[in-house]
Amino acid sequence: MDLIKVNGIVVKSSDYKDNDKLVTLVTFELGKITCLARGVKKPNAKLKYAQEMFNFGEFMLAKKRDSYTLTDCVQTDSFSPITKDIEMYYCGCMMMDILSRIASYESQKTMLAQTIRMLSKLCYDEIVPEKVTTEFLKECLKQNGYDIDYKYCSVCGMDLVETAYFSDSAGLICSACANKQTDLPVNTNILKYLQSGEGSVEIAKVSNSYLAYFLEELVGIKANPMYFGSINYGE
Ligand SMILES: [Zn+2]
Repeated sequence: MDLIKVNGIVVKSSDYKDNDKLVTLVTFELGKITCLARGVKKPNAKLKYAQEMFNFGEFMLAKKRDSYTLTDCVQTDSFSPITKDIEMYYCGCMMMDILSRIASYESQKTMLAQTIRMLSKLCYDEIVPEKVTTEFLKECLKQNGYDIDYKYCSVCGMDLVETAYFSDSAGLICSACANKQTDLPVNTNILKYLQSGEGSVEIAKVSNSYLAYFLEELVGIKANPMYFGSINYGE
């Protein structure tokens, strides 16, 4: 049995047997791993805090063949304000869910660092969850190879004004370059928000559902539809 140390965050914690939990971590050293946290459901368990979602810190694990058991944890941050506000909490859960499903190790590692930074913004800088969501989804697209240009048509280079279209082969394009039968229209308010971050919370929410759609089409990660609602095509 080896003892190892990893730095990461709890993205999921599920019940296992009577008193144990299976904890999914995204770590800088090993990417995504699952470890067994023994006895943490008992009321006075020493490591109760360690298995909670959003717990970020250094985890000490015992490794036996391919399985890990949690032996200790030094917490860096619990991001506790996140549990005080439902919108913040949903935003945090969406980030943990998507972070856990990024397939490439390198982009997951970069996204882990970015996600920690965004959780801090959410909890301590009082930035509205919708805007943190926008930044998170844009960064996810970028780290997975889709650094979308929201200002210029990716085909002809013209400024995108009023209406743009999303094409899953070209990204955001102008109406002259679009195939209006197959490409998804992105209206003025959404386009403006994606370019400048200006717009109401409602516009931000709709825009985020578009970004979630881009992520699904381009990267193949489907975000939780409960969080993003459905996209109103061409409204
Ligand atoms: Zn164009």
